[in-house]
Amino acid sequence: MTIKEQAYGPQEEAVFLDTIRRWTAQELKPRVKEYDHADRYPTEIVEQMKEMGLFGATISQEYGGLGLPARLYAQVVMEISSVWMAITGIFNSHLMLALAVEKFGTPAQKDLWLPKFASGEVRGGLALTEPDAGTDLQSIRMTARRDGDDYVINGTKTWISNGIEGSAVALLVKTDPKAEPRYKGMSLFIAPKQTGFTVSRKLEKLGYKCIDSGELVFQDYRLSKEHLIGGVEGQGFFQATGGLELGRINVAARGVGLAEGALRLASDYAQVRKTFGKPICEHQAIQLKLGEMVTRARAARLLTLDAAEAFDRGERCDMEAGMAKFFASEAALENSTEAMRIHGGYGYSKEFDIERFYRDSPLTCIGEGTNEMQRMIIARQWIKRHSIA
Ligand SMILES: Cc1cc2nc3c(=O)[nH]c(=O)nc-3n(C[C@H](O)[C@H](O)[C@H](O)COP(=O)(O)OP(=O)(O)OC[C@H]3O[C@@H](n4cnc5c(N)ncnc54)[C@H](O)[C@@H]3O)c2cc1C
Repeated sequence: MTIKEQAYGPQEEAVFLDTIRRWTAQELKPRVKEYDHADRYPTEIVEQMKEMGLFGATISQEYGGLGLPARLYAQVVMEISSVWMAITGIFNSHLMLALAVEKFGTPAQKDLWLPKFASGEVRGGLALTEPDAGTDLQSIRMTARRDGDDYVINGTKTWISNGIEGSAVALLVKTDPKAEPRYKGMSLFIAPKQTGFTVSRKLEKLGYKCIDSGELVFQDYRLSKEHLIGGVEGQGFFQATGGLELGRINVAARGVGLAEGALRLASDYAQVRKTFGKPICEHQAIQLKLGEMVTRARAARLLTLDAAEAFDRGERCDMEAGMAKFFASEAALENSTEAMRIHGGYGYSKEFDIERFYRDSPLTCIGEGTNEMQRMIIARQWIKRHSIA
């Protein structure tokens, strides 16, 4: 058992989750529709999240974070996502930046940045994707050229969550664009907003509203070598992907929340809407849908907790996290679609919450590795673990 688990036993876990549940019901539920439809950044709610310590949720307590184990953190994300998935991205993506620094940073980098990340004073995310490179991360073009004790960075990043409202990102670049294999020429920097770092546009989206997604341009952007995470060039690819297990548990938890939230909306509606003299939940066709939805949501939750517990035990869990991410995100999409159909014509109305679930769910199939890649990763890992050679 890890120290983190001891600090958050079953009793602490229940109290913590109860606080999150009450906050979600009192503060998020009444406001989500208005914010979502206006696509407005929820500044007031971000202030509440700061006070609750959510920006330091997985950062160690010695740096001012809450030090939540993955199992509890995942349940927090599930709870919030069952009402408002997009808002979890504001602290999820930020915590991926923090994880890169905590896992791979020098002691000086950890002392300097982690307390600021934990308090929410500095917030940000991961800047990996470029206009011509998403899944194939090793084909990024952004370069960092050494100039004395500094690096001069040029290039463009796109789709960066928290890139507009945040004040720093973990920036993946090529320090040696000619290196072979390509990953050996990649490095990761802590990049605060300063001269040379501009937001060129806010990206408009189908769903996942309120959280900002930006295109970021770096033009002769100068950083001292103290910003190179870990202080050694060529480690960036592994540092950027080194947080993927927790990142996938994270997205899986969002999927569970969406799948459960959609189920709840559908089952509530099916009990009050009547056709042919009885509530629609008494028609077999609707029961078949609900039966599948309940099962999918439950299976997604169990897979996600299974991956989180393996992570907390310090085990390698890329296959478990991949299965959870794949299954839970597809469950989110399927449950949202079925819930919309159960709402009939009202499912297509902006007055009902289900349309938001339908717009938000597909993102979970794309982020932290698309589900096409996820299945291949699961298969490769399975073969490796069950090799007959
Ligand atoms: C709302 C939103 C927020 C995001 N936030 C961030 C963020 O904060 N930071 C960040 O860095 N990025 C972010 N992204 C980018 C996201 O990570 C990428 O969109 C994702 O990695 C896919 O890359 P791509 O869009 O370039 O698709 P591509 O890589 O071009 O893939 C296109 C299609 O081809 C498939 N494909 C690709 N390669 C293979 C292969 N070898 N075998 C089989 N199929 C393949 C993919 O699965 C996909 O279906 C965000 C994206 C969105 C939409």
